[in-house]
Amino acid sequence: MTCCSICESEKFTRVFENAQRKVVQCDQCKHVQCIKPSKQVLIYDKEYLNHHHNWFKYPPKKIYRKIITRITRIINPQTLLDLGSGLGSFLIEARKSIPKILLTGVDQGYDSPSPDLQWYKSDFMSENELQIYDVISLISVVENYHQNLDALLIKIYRHLSDSGLIVIVTPNASSLISQISIQMSRLGWSIPAQLVFSEENPQTFSQKSLNLWLLKNGFKVIQEWGETLPWKTRDTHLDSKILHFLVNAGIGFLSEAGRLIGRPYLICIIAQKA
Ligand SMILES: [Zn+2]
Repeated sequence: MTCCSICESEKFTRVFENAQRKVVQCDQCKHVQCIKPSKQVLIYDKEYLNHHHNWFKYPPKKIYRKIITRITRIINPQTLLDLGSGLGSFLIEARKSIPKILLTGVDQGYDSPSPDLQWYKSDFMSENELQIYDVISLISVVENYHQNLDALLIKIYRHLSDSGLIVIVTPNASSLISQISIQMSRLGWSIPAQLVFSEENPQTFSQKSLNLWLLKNGFKVIQEWGETLPWKTRDTHLDSKILHFLVNAGIGFLSEAGRLIGRPYLICIIAQKA
């Protein structure tokens, strides 16, 4: 019997099912997960960069700056470890605000983007060289994670200083857009849900499941807020410029409306050891 990877409930509601995937939402904590995964394993290569062209070319620097401001109001960090760093855009932005901080990135797929960074081109879970850090960030990372989620947080806990902060930014399963796509799927049109809960994201946290996951692994949430992904950052994967514009405008409108009513597109959380 499959159970929810966060709250272990066995009660799910189907979001959609096709030949490759079955995606369900936990009735209890609203976590969305893929229980019949595609055999395709995500490879972080040049093709992945092209597929997420806008995300990598126009990283959400405003959100990054807001995170860094919030972090520095809570602690005076000397070290920051960014997991799934990609091209290091968050670290590069952090350097501008905190010039003397030691910045470390971990990414399986890409080489160090700057000699100014300490860099591990490896998998965080099997990397043995890592130290203790004041901040560990996971920006658009947890939703891609295919392995044991609790084991990931246990390792993060071990590498975090006592007053250190974990920062998570991830799409929200309870966002207005997610909820509309789930309702449409129940009415018989599952394409929006297949795009929202994409093949790359076996997990989509709700505000409730993200809080629960942190809590059960020894963290307390100290700040939580919602964000809308900026216009330029979004990839719609549509060839037609007009269609891209229309879909992007629709996503933008629903994201902003969702943020205003407390169902934001992205969840941002800062937590500390409990
Ligand atoms: Zn659950």
